[in-house]
Amino acid sequence: SPKVGVSPREHLSPLKIFVLAKKEINSTFGDISKYVSEGGEFLSSLELDKMPVIDNADRETVLAFPDKVRGIREVLARDHMKCVFFGRTSNGKSTVINAMLQDKILPSGLGHTTNCFLQVEGSKNNEAYLMLENTSEKRSVESVSQLGNALHGESLDPNALVRIFWPSNKCNLLRDDVVLLDSPGVDVSPNVDDWIDKYCLDADVFVIVANAESTLTTTEKKFFHKVSERLSKPNVFILNNRWDASANEPECIDKVRKQHLDRNISFLLEELKVYGSRSQAEERVFFVSAREVLNTRIQKLKGEQPSGGQIEGYQSRYFEFEDFERKFEKCLSETAVKTKFQQHCERGVKIVSEVMQIMDKAFQNATSLRESKIADRNEYLDRLEFTKMQMHELTDEVKHRIEQLVEQVECQVTQALSE
Ligand code: GDP
Repeated sequence: SPKVGVSPREHLSPLKIFVLAKKEINSTFGDISKYVSEGGEFLSSLELDKMPVIDNADRETVLAFPDKVRGIREVLARDHMKCVFFGRTSNGKSTVINAMLQDKILPSGLGHTTNCFLQVEGSKNNEAYLMLENTSEKRSVESVSQLGNALHGESLDPNALVRIFWPSNKCNLLRDDVVLLDSPGVDVSPNVDDWIDKYCLDADVFVIVANAESTLTTTEKKFFHKVSERLSKPNVFILNNRWDASANEPECIDKVRKQHLDRNISFLLEELKVYGSRSQAEERVFFVSAREVLNTRIQKLKGEQPSGGQIEGYQSRYFEFEDFERKFEKCLSETAVKTKFQQHCERGVKIVSEVMQIMDKAFQNATSLRESKIADRNEYLDRLEFTKMQMHELTDEVKHRIEQLVEQVECQVTQALSE
């Protein structure tokens, strides 16, 4: 059932699953932080020379946890969903990204070849600016033409990264913590291994922007062979872009589509082996026109009547792009929750269990100490028992919450898609 405080509308986007899970885990780690600190304070207050219920190493272990938890929370705060776009120059990578962002953000077209990595992410204060690698200087950008100018004169190598921060309130993807990365064309003889190390290892989804007017080249294929060698079963989508050009040859459009589809599927299924069945692979191949989608969305943004329908088949290409976006969002959100949060959750459980064990040890030792000394240490024992119980409850709770989270993700995705 929908969570309190979330409108049904917001439930429609599978991206919300990541956003909600992030909130949930953050609050769980807030609790872990509180309990771990309390445990540490309690152990610190013990006079171990008089009451040797625990050794110093154990106490130090517990005292080190608050910093560790803080570290995890910092990483958690930076966690996002990431998608990288690859393909040959001029296949339309920048246009696809702009269409998804609903506006002309990345420079595209002749003379605007992307010759380094451009990463678009949401800016918190809704300012637009860019940052070059290894600097903290913000360069304000108000328009796309300025973006080109702001980069003009920079000698950027193809490995360099420019981060573009764009107002989150202007686009759902950015608001929901999605980061999109445009790459230089794979044909600019890249140092593929460096690219993969630097940009691909934390990517949740890869999109190949192919040109529907030609077939995937060896260079494009080779690159993805390397990606799938390094990452186990990466999520790969193939967009056959410029499909509007097919309208010029209506007599062979079905044949061409089938030819591309068969080749794409066999690439995903037999070469990369990233999907288990033909139908799974088929769900990842699309025939679209990013330029048409972008134009339509810009016209809508300006409040104009979209005039996209001139080329035969426009409507079905537009629907196919929307279908891509939906499947893309679902895949992105599910993968990011699993790969990013599962790790944090496991570490959280481990920390809490370890504190719990140490508390338990202190309790056992205190009990036998009391028996041997028959001194009245009831108050101390009560405190210890109480703290131990809290830890116990927390361990169970964290485990329970994580199980729930995984279940919730699955159920919400199903629900979001059936609505
Ligand atoms: P990139 O180098 O891969 O980023 O390619 P761009 O996005 O800069 O696009 C290169 C050129 O192809 C631009 O002039 C775009 O307007 C054009 N283009 C992009 N997508 C389409 C499309 O779907 N159909 C057509 N006909 N042209 C497109």
